[in-house]
Amino acid sequence: MTGAGQRSLHQSAVDQFQRAADLIDLNDSYREILSHPKNEIIVNFPVSLDDGSKKVFTGYRIQHNNLLGPYKGGLRFHPDVDLDEVKALAAWMTFKTALVGVPFGGAKGGVTIDPSQYSEDEMRRVVRRFTHALGSNIGPDHDIPAPDVGTSSKTMDWVMDTYANISPPGFRQSVKGVVTGKSIEVGGSVGREEATGRGVLYSLRHWCGEKGRRLDDLTVSVQGFGNVGSFFAELAAEAGCTIVAVADHTGTIANPDGIAIPKLRLWADQNGGIDGYPGADAIGTEELFSLPVDVMVPAALQNQISAARARALECKIVLEAANGPTTPEGEVVLAARGIEVVPDILANAGGVIVSYFEWLQNKSARAWSFADVDDRMRELVWQAHDRVVERRIGLGCSRREAAYVVALDRIADVYDRRGIFP
Ligand code: NAD
Repeated sequence: MTGAGQRSLHQSAVDQFQRAADLIDLNDSYREILSHPKNEIIVNFPVSLDDGSKKVFTGYRIQHNNLLGPYKGGLRFHPDVDLDEVKALAAWMTFKTALVGVPFGGAKGGVTIDPSQYSEDEMRRVVRRFTHALGSNIGPDHDIPAPDVGTSSKTMDWVMDTYANISPPGFRQSVKGVVTGKSIEVGGSVGREEATGRGVLYSLRHWCGEKGRRLDDLTVSVQGFGNVGSFFAELAAEAGCTIVAVADHTGTIANPDGIAIPKLRLWADQNGGIDGYPGADAIGTEELFSLPVDVMVPAALQNQISAARARALECKIVLEAANGPTTPEGEVVLAARGIEVVPDILANAGGVIVSYFEWLQNKSARAWSFADVDDRMRELVWQAHDRVVERRIGLGCSRREAAYVVALDRIADVYDRRGIFP
């Protein structure tokens, strides 16, 4: 968002990688290339509403970089989606895929819409018409969307079906990999739905290993109870963590003895959010950011941990399940206070890793077992953590800077070898 007085999120994303680029003296040309998305696609498309009227929506697909493989990144349906936000999210995808070593580039897309205001039929028409408008700008070997805020496996099933129907008949069976995060019946992977939350938990496990801590000894607060936040909370609770507070767009709740996450999920499904859940007390929005906990997990939207909230936080680490949850000012305060940050491009990479596995399964028309998916995802997440720790120690920098350095090392190496056309 770049309204009056607001900083560009994309500029913050550029500043982040530039700080890491300084540490390794990255070639100026590569810095310049990575400071801009390669393609910015904006489509305005009409949709028939249930009352017979037509409404024009705006959709985006920003293709940041495809040096390491096809563009890859989610589709966000939210009223605040705009060009600046999607550009930032696309850039983060380039660094995330490079960091964890999956052969993809970075992209992101979305539609400026509040899905809660439309019927399922209307949303299906929005998705189909948006996919049609994107046309050949996406494709299984070119640009592969996935779910993000406000979208789900159902959305991906509709995108895939629409894309197949606008493909020549002879190709319709081979385009399943145009999106990942599909439902399993339609060609999705086991373990994809919870993969991002599970990857966040593996990140926490790695941190515990580094610090000699135990999961069953940790208290945790979580902001966001959608795909990422709810799966993370459930899996973390199963692993022994005590989830003492949860927030979503309807409210914030706390229980020092631990919130029963499966019950909370049922409540949220039935009531459209966590507000009113009887097994915990309602607290104020800001209280979430001052509760004493070991781990604070932002799993909602960007720009949540401002300088003021960073000053209030009483936690040992911020585990960034969301993309871009810490503002640059917040980051400075956290560093000064000695609160560690496990950065988004590392903490939430489990989703794109399992998306890669889904894409491989679609290409080979094979279905992997859950154990295969999960073991290989954990291995890639932990390998990335190990490299980040190594670079962090070597350079004496933050975990976020080290994560960018690992990503930039890979990208720069491939640019060095391939050169820049012509
Ligand atoms: P989602 O739409 O499933 O859930 C979003 C959640 O955030 C909801 O519970 C909503 O109530 C909550 N929320 C929104 N505004 C809030 C506010 N002001 N205060 C508190 N809670 C609020 O989205 P998701 O897929 O879980 O994505 C969450 C974050 O994780 C995003 O930053 C997304 O980019 C990132 N992410 C998602 C994936 C994925 O696979 N879905 C992968 C990597 C990163």
